[in-house]
Amino acid sequence: MNAKFYSCIECGAKNVALFQVFSENALTLQTCANCSKVIDKYVEYDFTVILIDILLLKFSAYRHVLYNSNTKN
Ligand SMILES: [Zn+2]
Repeated sequence: MNAKFYSCIECGAKNVALFQVFSENALTLQTCANCSKVIDKYVEYDFTVILIDILLLKFSAYRHVLYNSNTKN
């Protein structure tokens, strides 16, 4: 009953999944039902790139860290 929702980093809409796994080596990022953009492109990015985008004050990087990552701090 406590379903996990992920926020789109572009518009903030809630979505059920960030990516879909097809096989062991293949997955695809999901698009947002509201804005038709990739829900969270930072899933595939290295943390260093995310940190640089945070320092550049990009809202999408903040949304990734706050809503879609497992960061406790
Ligand atoms: Zn969206």
